[in-house]
Amino acid sequence: MLYQTPLNKPFIFPTQINRYIKKLSMIPSKVNEQHKIIANKLISLHSKDSPFTQIPSYNYDQLRKGITCGKCTSFLISVEGRKCVCKECGHEEIIAAAVMRNVREFKLLFPNQKITTNVIHD
Ligand SMILES: [Zn+2]
Repeated sequence: MLYQTPLNKPFIFPTQINRYIKKLSMIPSKVNEQHKIIANKLISLHSKDSPFTQIPSYNYDQLRKGITCGKCTSFLISVEGRKCVCKECGHEEIIAAAVMRNVREFKLLFPNQKITTNVIHD
């Protein structure tokens, strides 16, 4: 989605696609050679993977383990009662919430790996 685009530009946004497809399909037409050329051109230009994702390579063993601060990402966290307290910025978070946040991060980093108590404890 492009935000704050000029209204006079001919962009079609994701939320408008269905409406445009419907409108197009209402126009009676016959498929000719020109249409097939355009269709083949579009197929040849189709890219499955976004060129805008640049994920660095990483593996489990090389990553620093531990709960980070939900606000400043510091590893300097101490447990005080039922809370995690950041020694860097003072941010406080209930332990259960901090653990669940880390489970979500683990899932994001390793979508194919099974989530176990051991791996989250690690
Ligand atoms: Zn912090």
